[in-house]
Amino acid sequence: MTSSPRVVVLAGGVGGSKFTLGVREALARRGAPQATVVVNTGDDLWLSGVRLQPDVDSILYALAGVNDTERGWGRAGDTERVNHELQQWDAGWPWFTLGDLDLGTHLARTGWLREGLTPTQVAERLSRRWPLGVRLLPMTDAEVDTRVLVEGGDVMHFQEWWTRHRARLVPRAFENAGMDAARPAPGVIEAIAEADVVLVAPSNPVVSIGPILAVPGVREALAATSARVVGVSPIIGGAVVRGMADVCLAAIGVETSASAVARHYGARRAGGLLDAWLLAEEDTGLAPDVAALGMTAAVAPLWMRDVAASAHIADAALAAAIR
Ligand code: GDP
Ligand code: CA
Repeated sequence: MTSSPRVVVLAGGVGGSKFTLGVREALARRGAPQATVVVNTGDDLWLSGVRLQPDVDSILYALAGVNDTERGWGRAGDTERVNHELQQWDAGWPWFTLGDLDLGTHLARTGWLREGLTPTQVAERLSRRWPLGVRLLPMTDAEVDTRVLVEGGDVMHFQEWWTRHRARLVPRAFENAGMDAARPAPGVIEAIAEADVVLVAPSNPVVSIGPILAVPGVREALAATSARVVGVSPIIGGAVVRGMADVCLAAIGVETSASAVARHYGARRAGGLLDAWLLAEEDTGLAPDVAALGMTAAVAPLWMRDVAASAHIADAALAAAIR
């Protein structure tokens, strides 16, 4: 492989953005081209008349350096005046906070959508304000918002289940209505086909990476590309680092372990996704299980404490692509 690889990253929000910061750094040091980041849009929703794209915005804000690193979502130093006013009107969702600066993004996006731009074109517009150092692509231009079917039969938007109920209602299934008719966003298939390496971020395998892989054509493109496909484990020592991905994994019958997630993704040579899987040092003992699946098992420290740590993980993932 070239020392200046063309890289595609498949990513969700928080784990995805921390990893993407590291990829940007690792590629800049090599003088490599900017990565293309294909972002999950299953979390997207309409609220109070505006279109929210939580994972796209997490990555946008993190790369721009304007994200709130303490809360883990939204803009640093944001205020909630409009949110308070919406609540006085009983509008929107009382358990879902919209920051004022964040609302500026949603208004801009919704305005452009109303003027006829596609989500891909909107992402391109949103990318002009700050030097992001990557190309951001939504996984699809179709609206395929994730819905959760919970025990008892209720169906709700993923954000209601995640934010309001803190994933405490037992999920039976995750659905993306309209996915059968969805197409990958323009550029997604081409980027995968032309890549040297595809990196699967340590994002939620079920509700972040799952929807990207479910867009018709994406799995086929990943199977056909001459790129090496390398995944990074979001599970360290049998636990999710943060968030509630374990509940999502349980719903689809996957144990919360780095090797179970590798098995869920599957080896490319056996019709699955991965050529290589990067495990945390804590999970070194699982490497033989992963290798037995038919993929390269590599080990590295996987805590994304800061950009340097994430860049080190990106380096290890790129190294695993060569083996
Ligand atoms: P979301 O869309 O905001 O939920 O974020 P993602 O789906 O992109 O990422 C969530 C996943 O990131 C969680 O399942 C965590 O296990 C994983 N994660 C978060 N921080 C770290 C970290 O420092 N290291 C690793 N390996 N995974 C992490
Ligand atoms: Ca998300």
